[in-house]
Amino acid sequence: MSQIFIRKQITLLLTGFCVLILNSPIQSQQKDVCIALHGGAGNISKATLTEEEQNAYKEKMVEALKVGYEVLKNGGSSVDAVEKAIRVLEDSPLFNAGKGAVYTANGTIELDASVMCGKSLKAGAVAGVTIIRNPISAAIKVMTLTPHVMLIGKGAEDFALAQKLDTAGPSYFYDEKRWLQYLEKKEKGELTSGNKNIIFGTVGVVAMDKEGNLAAGTSTGGMSYKKNGRVGDSPIIGAGTYADNRYGAVSCTGHGEFFIRNVVAYDIIALKAYKGWSIEKAARYVICDKLKKQGADGGVICIDSKGNISASFNTSAMFRGYINKKGEMKVDIF
Ligand code: ASP
Repeated sequence: MSQIFIRKQITLLLTGFCVLILNSPIQSQQKDVCIALHGGAGNISKATLTEEEQNAYKEKMVEALKVGYEVLKNGGSSVDAVEKAIRVLEDSPLFNAGKGAVYTANGTIELDASVMCGKSLKAGAVAGVTIIRNPISAAIKVMTLTPHVMLIGKGAEDFALAQKLDTAGPSYFYDEKRWLQYLEKKEKGELTSGNKNIIFGTVGVVAMDKEGNLAAGTSTGGMSYKKNGRVGDSPIIGAGTYADNRYGAVSCTGHGEFFIRNVVAYDIIALKAYKGWSIEKAARYVICDKLKKQGADGGVICIDSKGNISASFNTSAMFRGYINKKGEMKVDIF
């Protein structure tokens, strides 16, 4: 064989190899992205919220979805999308997270948040923080920069300060509507106030990025008129938040004590993992059967490992929305 012939063969082989690489699974493995969020569940009727109020909630949810979706479309990670979308909701006084958080029995605010990465199974959380503007960002820093999962109170705040995260004082967090709610509860001396007209208002986001990686995050001011130091399910991995690429991502809202006792987010994942149920069936069972029988109000949003989105709630309403793999967007309340 002549040298020229061999060279030609090698060139042909290399060309074929390049074509193979271009058409390789690495390219075709790129997933269609999707994102879903909730802004809390509650037993409210359409009459409780004016048309104008409903539109305000919907507009904010659309804004948050678009911000998260943009991150995903540009090749950003699901964790990044969860952070960016939750920050929009935390910055809005409409939701019980960040600005707009409910007051404790002492008239202070104590914020909780958590995040979980479905690829690494790493997680981060903060609880009982009072000066961190966007607790979700602090939770992500805990996940990425420390060997821990949860930091609480002053330690979490010192850590956030060291990371140069934005802080704010009581005047930033003050919201007249929340303060009036607090005064009303104080007069009645209620720790929790029955089922009527409560909007839990916690926010949560689940997302799938181009790599097919899932993430879930949740942020809250907790239950209105809660005892100081009370921590709900939202910052507890497995209770309020869970993500595992193999099964799905879940973010919860509702009466936290029940969600902790029932390990709700992980229970939904476990039903899929061990019983082979779809995430939707698992969520419906846990929320609408198991929790309902215990008198616990709340709901969840989920994305499964294939990017199917679902929402389950046992209340009359849940602020929720999604942009699915086809790019279709929907927001809803009732
Ligand atoms: N689950 C939250 C908590 O118990 C409350 C909520 O969902 O609004 O702290």
